[in-house]
Amino acid sequence: MPMTEHTQAPADPTTSLPAHVDVLVVGAGFSGVGAAIRMSREGFDDFLVVDRGADVGGTWRDNDYPGAACDVPSHLYSFSFALNPGWTRTFSPQAEIFEYLRRTAREAGVLPRFRFGVEVRSARWDEDAALWRVSTSAGDITSRILILGVGPLCEPNLPDIPGIEGFEGEIMHSARWRHDVPLRGRRAAVIGTGASAIQIVPSIAPEVGHLDVYQRTAPWILPRVDRPYTPPERLAFRRIPAFRTWVRGQIYLTRESQVVGLTRARALLKPLETAARALLRFQVRDPELRRRLTPGYSLGCKRILLSNKYYPAIARPNVDLVTSPIREIRGRSIVTEDGAEHETDVLVVATGFHVTDSPAFGIIRGRDGRSLAEVWEEGGMTAYKGTTVHNFPNMFVLIGPATGLGHSSMIFMIESQLNYLLGALRSMRDRGESVIEVREDVQEAYNEDIRRRVDESIWMTGGCSSWYKDVHGNAPAVWPDYTFVFRRLTKDFDPNAYLRVSVPASTDS
Ligand code: NAP
Repeated sequence: MPMTEHTQAPADPTTSLPAHVDVLVVGAGFSGVGAAIRMSREGFDDFLVVDRGADVGGTWRDNDYPGAACDVPSHLYSFSFALNPGWTRTFSPQAEIFEYLRRTAREAGVLPRFRFGVEVRSARWDEDAALWRVSTSAGDITSRILILGVGPLCEPNLPDIPGIEGFEGEIMHSARWRHDVPLRGRRAAVIGTGASAIQIVPSIAPEVGHLDVYQRTAPWILPRVDRPYTPPERLAFRRIPAFRTWVRGQIYLTRESQVVGLTRARALLKPLETAARALLRFQVRDPELRRRLTPGYSLGCKRILLSNKYYPAIARPNVDLVTSPIREIRGRSIVTEDGAEHETDVLVVATGFHVTDSPAFGIIRGRDGRSLAEVWEEGGMTAYKGTTVHNFPNMFVLIGPATGLGHSSMIFMIESQLNYLLGALRSMRDRGESVIEVREDVQEAYNEDIRRRVDESIWMTGGCSSWYKDVHGNAPAVWPDYTFVFRRLTKDFDPNAYLRVSVPASTDS
């Protein structure tokens, strides 16, 4: 199987797809599960969630590499309507978050509406029938409403290195970890030094014989204040809901305090830069290694990373930091520009995801037949309130353009979008409208303002490249303001921003 292909679960033949459903949700991660729970709680029961994987979980199901954990404390990184008193530590590991999501979906009783092992191959808006025609690996289905909950971090990005297809050792992307590949005593390599890599490197360094870490750009790393909760704290979380809410609020406020620095006044990020430099100085004694680990752009431009273990791992005697660019892969070796050949048995590519160019965008075709990919390539990746897109009627994108965060919980953003989505569903039901489509002028005006603010932000001015940016050099993925501003914007559905049609939708497929 190719390295990035998803281990798709076989579709369960006893649960084949109905011909039509009112709302079809694609993706069973936090977005899909959240949408399912909110819809079922509010009486919108005619929905189905499909996912190509074998379970709920999305990115938290797929990213089970060694050391995977969240950078946002769990008491914030969870649904407000399903707080979890049982978190065992400040930053939960992947397995705990995955289990939280599974339990939340199970306890909400929505799982009968999920179909796993179903891969969406195309979705096309049928203007005459006023519905979406969706082709999947388990057959065709139509829906009046389409919700994309595929997530921005789901399609692995492979490095474009000459010879990589012919690599003679074993290779895997961080989001497709191959647990069957032995590491003990072997020569391993990790390409990339982003959020995934800095968790993988310290986790595998003690086990492998030798590890080469290929760094193209040094990341900014801050200490990770992570610890298990004490038994009295855990008791308090269970017994005193107000304590849980208070802790969640404290985390939220601390995180929001970074926003001014990221978006308006970068000088405010200087103390964080000082803390990051201090961590590097404290943990890496060798001045030459320290120099190579020192970032050459402003902190905050890329995602700020948290780790107490990464620098000590890099300083281990069995680990080499390779900063000479990779020229090619030849047989079992990685050849760098300085002419060195690094023999490698196991190659981990922790090279991120297709965010602004996700293949998912190519299979969704709107009213005029153009795909989301074509529309966004031409005009930039934009949506109205990160959620609806002109030319794509009755479609809602969760974690759409300009909703990404560098500092806080994406679950907060998803819940804001769910408020908006449910508002739209209620509005359509109450007004008897079968089709809504955001007005082009409204979408443009909204994005003009976003672009202006993003242009002033550290993501654009900090002197780096990042997955926040697209091929045009814009940063369409990030939300350039406080998250409570987004919450306010999405609180109520605003029908006047939409073209609305009140015709009975055909269910004829
Ligand atoms: P990423 O942040 O996009 O990092 C990819 C890394 O691979 C970068 O260091 C990049 O270098 C390098 N790279 C890419 N192509 C390369 C090439 N051709 N040759 C050499 N190096 C190459 O991806 P990620 O680490 O998977 O993280 C993605 C996002 O997932 C994060 O930003 C975060 O939002 C989320 N995440 C969160 C956590 C957490 O909460 N702890 C953990 C993992 C992931 P350059 O910097 O030079 O481009």
